[in-house]
This record gives sequence, structure tokens and C-alpha cells, in this order.
Amino acid sequence: MNLFNLSDTTEVAKKILQRGEMVVLTGAGVSTESGIPDFRSPDGIWNKYDFTEFATIDALLRNPVKVFGFFKEFLGPLKSAAPNKAHKALARLEEVGLVKAVITQNIDNLHQKAGSKNVIELHGNALNARCMGCHKPYTLDDIENERYGFPPVCPDCKKLIKPDVVLFGERLPDAAIKTACQLSMDSKLMLVIGTSGTVAPASGLPHLAKKAGADIVEINVEPTIITKTTTDFFLQGKAGEIMSELCEKILNEISVG
Ligand code: NAD
Repeated sequence: MNLFNLSDTTEVAKKILQRGEMVVLTGAGVSTESGIPDFRSPDGIWNKYDFTEFATIDALLRNPVKVFGFFKEFLGPLKSAAPNKAHKALARLEEVGLVKAVITQNIDNLHQKAGSKNVIELHGNALNARCMGCHKPYTLDDIENERYGFPPVCPDCKKLIKPDVVLFGERLPDAAIKTACQLSMDSKLMLVIGTSGTVAPASGLPHLAKKAGADIVEINVEPTIITKTTTDFFLQGKAGEIMSELCEKILNEISVG
């Protein structure tokens, strides 16, 4: 019995063209093929680090030296990472008018590097940083090269300079979550790629879209809680491979039609 509505890219390509446009929700799994580990897979970051000690706002305030050591190890490599086939396919599908927006939980800037224009970042962008006191902008470079000390301190107000990422225990940017909810409610089809669906409120967006009448297509190497509760079409496999196949089929259909 097919428990998870396993689909193929031909069927999904047709559905996307029928619906005419889609909103995309991405998680860490869209970037693992760019060499960036996700959080919860067997090679994921939380198998090496306890997130309560490294990724909460309380941990940062309690032990900034320890948390900034983690930031340098995890965030540093994001600067040189390159977009993979999945990021590129999404950018190409935006170019031809089929992707309305990419809502991402990722902080790695890879959708923008691939050429996507309408990217809603729910958890911030690790290439940027900000003073926790006066909000003056800084960069990841400033943190990495210890220009302002370690942990880095704003020369103006002497408060910590923090990467522009949302830690556990912090609020998401209001504008980003509001836009993401609206896009989800307006969408005719939502494509969900590489998220375990365990981090709220992003995990609620597919459900919101489905309630408003959207078809939910999911790409993941394994079924998730979203697959079991919300997904209509499940494409099992690596995001890069599936997205390039899907993109090719859609572009072929467009050029034939
Ligand atoms: P997660 O680690 O909880 O889940 C990743 C999901 O991706 C899993 O379901 C896994 O099966 C799937 N996956 C892994 N490789 C894949 C591949 N090649 N193709 C398809 N699916 C694949 O990540 P999440 O759901 O995004 O939520 C956790 C948080 O992780 C987010 O808040 C995000 O900010 C943060 N994060 C971001 C990055 C990044 O910016 N690249 C990296 C790690 C974590």
C-alpha cells in the first residue's frame, strides 16, 4: 500500500503547470548538497552539539565565548558555499513566472546566490550581524576576523554583536512571518523542500496553505510529519536531483506548448 502518496516528477510537473504558480518553503535539506549540514539528519549538527547549549538566546547571554565558538565553526563556511541544482532550478522557475516566492528557514543566502529574487527569510541571514544594543549593522566577516574582539563587542555601545539569525527563544521578524502566512494562504500550490517540519511557526505554513485550498508537494529524502498530515504529492529523494528533473520537465512542456 502506498502510505505516503509517492508521486513522480511528470505528474507533479503537470500539476504545477495546471496551477500556474507556486510558493516554495525550504529548510536545511535544500542546502545539504551544497555541503551545509542540516540539524536533525544522522550527520546533522544536533548530533554533535546540544542545541540548548549553543542555539538559544539564553545560552548566548550565559556563555558568549562558547556560543561564538560554535557560530564561527558553523557560520564561517556558509560564506563560501555555492548554490546547488535545487537552488538553481527554483531561481529558473521564478524567472519563467512559476515561483511566486521562496519562503526559507535557511540562513545561508544560497537562494539569493542562485538568482532567486523574492526570498522571505524567516530566520534571518547569517552573512549579516547587528549590535544587540544600538542595532548598528555589522557583517559575519567582522565576527570571523575578530575585528571587534572575541566575542565581538560594538565599539559604540559595548554590547554584543550578534549574527542576524533567529535563535531559539527569540521572536521571528514580524514582517517576514506576516508575508509568509499571507503567501501561504494565497497559494494554489506549495512546494515544501527539505524540512523536517518540526520548527514552528514555519512548520505550520503547509497546513495553512492546504486549508486555503492549495496542493502540497513535498520533496525529502524521507517522510516527515508533514508527509503524514498534509502532503498530497510526495517526491522521495535528494532535492538537487529531483528539482533539476522537475524543472527540466516543466521547461520542456512550456517550450512544446
Ligand atoms: P532539519 O535539520 O530539522 O531537517 C532537514 C530535513 O531535510 C530532514 O527532513 C531531512 O530528511 C531533509 N533532507 C536532508 N538532506 C536532504 C536532501 N539532499 N534532499 C531533500 N531533503 C533532505 O531542518 P529544518 O526543518 O530546516 O529546521 C531546522 C532549522 O535549521 C531551521 O530553522 C534553519 O534555520 C536551520 N538550519 C539552516 C541551515 C542553512 O541555512 N543551510 C542549516 C542547518 C540548520
